[in-house]
Amino acid sequence: MIFKERKMSDELQMLQALDRRMALSPKDHKNYQHLLKGFRGEAQFDQLLANLSCAHIQIHDLLLEHNGTVFQIDSLLIMKEKIIVYEVKNYQGEFFFEQERFFKIPRQEIMNPLHQIGRTAPILTQLLRKHGFNIPIQFHVVFVNPEFTLFHAQQNTRVILPTQINDHLRKLNSINTQLNQTHKHLAEKLIKLHLNDSPYQNRPVYEYDEIRKGVVCGGCGLMAVEVKGRKVYCKRCNWVEHLDTVIVKLVMEYKLLFPNKKVTVSAIDEWCGSLISLKSISRILGQYFTRKGSLRWSYYE
Ligand SMILES: [Zn+2]
Repeated sequence: MIFKERKMSDELQMLQALDRRMALSPKDHKNYQHLLKGFRGEAQFDQLLANLSCAHIQIHDLLLEHNGTVFQIDSLLIMKEKIIVYEVKNYQGEFFFEQERFFKIPRQEIMNPLHQIGRTAPILTQLLRKHGFNIPIQFHVVFVNPEFTLFHAQQNTRVILPTQINDHLRKLNSINTQLNQTHKHLAEKLIKLHLNDSPYQNRPVYEYDEIRKGVVCGGCGLMAVEVKGRKVYCKRCNWVEHLDTVIVKLVMEYKLLFPNKKVTVSAIDEWCGSLISLKSISRILGQYFTRKGSLRWSYYE
């Protein structure tokens, strides 16, 4: 059972929106590619976990704090006898461990993910004890990219290589037990403790005027769409979406990129490059958002 799904961080959503509407700086572009790769790896592992048939609770993308330390958990499974925590890595290429250090070939040092989980383990244990849950926690680093190779790999039960993932999941599926209310309470507690705002997020720098206005295709990401009736079609790929959904997404994108600007009919008209009728924009704003202010000065939240 999935208790909490993964969603793109605000930072990644912003970079994705900006990338389609302007040229990102080399630094932002690199950061975007890095975050996107990480997110895709995690989403790929989520899909595998979604097929688990044993009794369990899944929680993805948790941000927790204990004694002033903020730490992130990619995926967490609550099983009857234990909790399993996964640190998901989408590394591609050839790597090796050497004396507690982790390198990409030929010799580019990368933060050792085993140290990362080594730091998380005692903090999470303490946090759960503080809330009255005394359950063993098993930590794994899972390398999900099929093009990941680890040289001189010594057997380490904490490391799950791409070729070992299926076997790991089969073993979990062979566990035949039931969960009880305590497990549910534990899951609810973790979700309650989850922090929404990550202190690690950066905000890219951009100005309203430098951003291209228009409607971006949800399939190919190009601004090549046309509106026909209540449908939006892409002229480059075969993407089609309902007009209402497109407008709601445009508004959410606008709010994300410009949290200090007011959402008005004319602001969204300009944002979509006047591609959608004012009547439709007005209808959707009224239907899905809350109207504030009055008459000509009204805006939506
Ligand atoms: Zn398209």
